[in-house]
Amino acid sequence: MTIKYCPKCKSRSIYLYLGGTVGILYKCKKCGYMGPIILEED
Ligand SMILES: [Zn+2]
Repeated sequence: MTIKYCPKCKSRSIYLYLGGTVGILYKCKKCGYMGPIILEED
């Protein structure tokens, strides 16, 4: 199982905001970070 982290505040409150042909975008509930890069850990 992969755990996703916010690269900015290391929070796990990150979710897939947008996903499609144009690319993916994640958003963090805690700090408001939005971007395609997140940290993943098994
Ligand atoms: Zn964050």
